[in-house]
Amino acid sequence: MKKINLITLLLLLSFSALATLNVSNTAIPGGIVVVDFYTNHANPKAFYSNVPVYLQRKKDTHWQALVGIPLLVKTGGKQLIIKDFSERKIAFNVIPHGYKEQHITLTGKNKKYVNPNLAHMDRITRERPILAVARNTFSTQVFNNSSFIRPVSGVITSPFGFKRFYNGQARRPHTGIDYAGKTGTPIKATAAGKVIISDEFFFNGNAVFIDHGQGLISVYIHMNERLVNPGQIIKQGDVIGTIGQTGRATGPHLHFGIYLNKTVINPNILIKDTPKL
Ligand code: ZN
Repeated sequence: MKKINLITLLLLLSFSALATLNVSNTAIPGGIVVVDFYTNHANPKAFYSNVPVYLQRKKDTHWQALVGIPLLVKTGGKQLIIKDFSERKIAFNVIPHGYKEQHITLTGKNKKYVNPNLAHMDRITRERPILAVARNTFSTQVFNNSSFIRPVSGVITSPFGFKRFYNGQARRPHTGIDYAGKTGTPIKATAAGKVIISDEFFFNGNAVFIDHGQGLISVYIHMNERLVNPGQIIKQGDVIGTIGQTGRATGPHLHFGIYLNKTVINPNILIKDTPKL
């Protein structure tokens, strides 16, 4: 009897070890669309715009696809391709969302970040593919995450998705959340994962990228110090660096971003205890 209980307990433990993310469907640009489907296949795959998508098994034959929607997407009808024993399409809809405008003035030495000179352009061109490869990582490694946490406790000074203008010139919308904080404030890993980048870049300054598996990547930018190395496995809440003002930053803060199927999405959708938009 005792032996059976022990086996049952071990089974339960191994089952509970396979945590899944609890994500609410947010079918807007910069959101995550949650697509439920059912299959007997042990290892289904799903694709959105030909890019593999994050999949999780909720229970038995019930699976869920978490689809990152680009900020600059054309809203309307979209399709997810499921590949199991055959191939099928699941339709979903993306609705518009009005993101606000933000105007930023860069002066003095920070002006180089508006119109970088040739030497800087060289460096930017060198760094661009390195960052793209990291953002586009799709690993099959499994990490035990059920929700993400805030990397720092500071107030949000610039939310996700703001349409940005630097000295009046339109630039990409804001691809993350900016948290205020003093230089040297510890930054925590939002979830368990593997460090894929810990390096210094022109725009990003000191940056750390963490792979959470299946195309889910978190990025931490403008750090003062980096305290982790590429290849390192980390737990949720581990300190990975400190807040700083390196790269294109007008003051000390943490820029925190999340990528899903090569698409930047609103981190607040994954973070518990925080407003969703
Ligand atoms: Zn930012």
